[in-house]
Amino acid sequence: MKKHNFSAGPSILPQEVLRKSAEAVIELDNSGLSLLEISHRSKAFVDIMENARSLALELLGLQGQGYKALFLQGGASMQFVMVALNLLEKRAGYLNTGTWADNAIKEARIFDDVYEVASSKEANYNYIPKGYEIPEDYDYFHCTSNNTIFGTQMKSFPDSPIPMVCDMSSDIFSRNLDYSKFDLIYAGAQKNMGPAGTTLVVVKEDILGKVSRKIPSILDYKVHISKGSMFNTPPVFPIYVSMLTMEWLKKMGGISAIEKINDQKARLIYSEIDLNPLFEGFTVKEDRSTMNATFNLVNDNLKETFDTMLKEADISGLNGHRSVGGYRASMYNALPLDSVKALVEVMSELETKA
Ligand SMILES: *Cc1c(COP(=O)(O)O)cnc(C)c1O
Repeated sequence: MKKHNFSAGPSILPQEVLRKSAEAVIELDNSGLSLLEISHRSKAFVDIMENARSLALELLGLQGQGYKALFLQGGASMQFVMVALNLLEKRAGYLNTGTWADNAIKEARIFDDVYEVASSKEANYNYIPKGYEIPEDYDYFHCTSNNTIFGTQMKSFPDSPIPMVCDMSSDIFSRNLDYSKFDLIYAGAQKNMGPAGTTLVVVKEDILGKVSRKIPSILDYKVHISKGSMFNTPPVFPIYVSMLTMEWLKKMGGISAIEKINDQKARLIYSEIDLNPLFEGFTVKEDRSTMNATFNLVNDNLKETFDTMLKEADISGLNGHRSVGGYRASMYNALPLDSVKALVEVMSELETKA
């Protein structure tokens, strides 16, 4: 029996995607060959890559606007480095909203000057700073749309006078936004798109080629674009699974359709957190993430009972990150509403027991 999977990442994928992926490992589309044993330059795989690249732009509503989609390696963490290498000439502005944002700042500082436009570090990142200014003479502004560890999410984005770069690892394809506000978006596949091993990068081509430093080919967005995201052997399996997940999303109505379900799931869990006196949310209410809900037991004595009840209800992956503690329910696109219902039931059952 499939468990209710609230894992923060790698995380739940649609059942039909898992099944099709497993089949393709044995034999890809009646070809007599496994997806894993064909050339990445074969027509079969080039078609998969091109389909994945165009689906990403289509779902984000960014086709025909000068954007290119790439599937790279090295995780979102590699993008902390590539963004700075490719875009940072003198100074960049970063919004520090969590551990991942903080890591992005550390990496960029290796190359040049980084200014924190605002930070919520002093409050253990339980809110999103607002009302900050983005200097016009900086190279770019970097933000993190969803803070996976702390459970906060940017509900609106500034009108940036300079190119805007966003780490969307944990909420890519989850909600309607004007994605054309961003000049570079990146997202590790393993939260909301596919297995670990590839990172989606969507970049507006005209922001590239403006820094004076030499960039190693493998870290140069322009090289990856010119090679159709095949500069070196791409991670074929995670790209294939990501393509299937994007097809699944498109078939069910795209981002608008999944956003409605994501909102329902979030409303359900947060209303339980607010109404049930045994629990308290970790973040301020207005910045609560629809993807990762972080909460604590008011009385830690109930932890053993609650954990046992979760286990009996086949609920998995609910432990909070070590820097926050408590619980974190990750409710990515593929998590069914029923799983959140199951969790909320256990939470309210605890109240009747306590
Ligand atoms: C998980 C995560 C990362 C790190 O991703 P890796 O692929 O492990 O490098 C970066 N940013 C955010 C927002 C994340 O959730």
